[in-house]
Amino acid sequence: MPHTHEDTRAVHAGQAPDPATGAILTPIFQSTTYVQQAVGVHKGHTYSRASNPTVSVLEACLGELEDAPPSVCFSTGMAAETALALALLRSGDHVVVSEVCYGGTVRLLREILSGFGVEASFVDAKSPAAVEAAITPRTRLVFVETPANPTLALTDIAAVAAVCRQAGVLLAVDNTFQTPVLQRPLDLGADISVYSTTKHIEGHNSTVGGALTSRDEALLERLRFVRKSVGSIQSPFESWLTLRGIKTLPLRLRQHSAHAQAVASWLEAHPRVTRVLYPGLPSFPQHELAVRQQRGHGGILAFEIEGGLVAGTALMNAVRLCALAESLGAVETLVTHPASMTHGDVPREQRERAGVTDGLVRLSVGLEDPADIIADLGQAIEVAAAAAEEEPCPAAR
Ligand code: PLP
Repeated sequence: MPHTHEDTRAVHAGQAPDPATGAILTPIFQSTTYVQQAVGVHKGHTYSRASNPTVSVLEACLGELEDAPPSVCFSTGMAAETALALALLRSGDHVVVSEVCYGGTVRLLREILSGFGVEASFVDAKSPAAVEAAITPRTRLVFVETPANPTLALTDIAAVAAVCRQAGVLLAVDNTFQTPVLQRPLDLGADISVYSTTKHIEGHNSTVGGALTSRDEALLERLRFVRKSVGSIQSPFESWLTLRGIKTLPLRLRQHSAHAQAVASWLEAHPRVTRVLYPGLPSFPQHELAVRQQRGHGGILAFEIEGGLVAGTALMNAVRLCALAESLGAVETLVTHPASMTHGDVPREQRERAGVTDGLVRLSVGLEDPADIIADLGQAIEVAAAAAEEEPCPAAR
């Protein structure tokens, strides 16, 4: 029975008690192969590179969260993006990509797929007209990330979907920051939702994983074929942990959003903070689009303090409760330096055009009490101010 309320869906979607034992949680089917009743007669699974019962339950769950058929799950978010490229693109094809996006996506396109004759144009996807202008007769795919990592720049999904439909090009939206709970790309006209389940979906810093969701059955079939061919399925234990994480996904995202809003408002009022980027702030340049398109603004924000790179580095080295680490979207608050960490492989000129300055700090606001997060940031900003006074960096002068 499909569940209508989101909190109920998150707990039950795709799942039923184990018919063999009554176990309320889906078992971890840690098995390579499946005994067949006769040649060509089996119970739906033959070999765990092609499919696995625990992974299939996660796929049914993720699909149902977006009113779609079962998703296709991968070993990582990057494995999902790679499978999407292998399923859709051939030598000579062209992709239009939002210029602000996860550094690994840029690396895949610039350093790997370019060698196979796939060309990418990075455009300011805040403007649907810029996306439209970049589409050529060779374009097969438009790939946008919204909110984009790490500046939170938004793409108007419905407007870009209309452009893509008109041009006969598929639209993929990396919905990792929002998840189906806060944003529904397929309902807005996108063809594919892309996920790093590593982030909010699993949510506890315990796994790496990826997923692709679509309502196009033929595309899903092609993606399963690519996954079986290249060998990039998710492991059953990762799927089990991810299923457990999803049970609290709406609850966690409500809390992440509330905490991030509180931290963003505090940062904005701080005299040493020069820039705060959070779609939930009325000062955010695309706040109106955020309110229209998103059902909440999530747990990720970015900011800069006086003193540029020197001060930003000192702040990141001074945090005590927040952890300096790559990744985002889990219960622990993480602070990241995009220019050297997640976006280190993005060419400087592309990084700077996209607003990923050397002093930008990304914060994934966790589920600790926001007062404690704010207190930690407050002391780290004071340490950073002292460091910047001792050694003013050229950008700050
Ligand atoms: N998409 C976004 C928005 C991300 O932030 C990341 C990782 O940080 C990825 C995709 C890649 O996912 P994974 O690390 O699971 O390969």
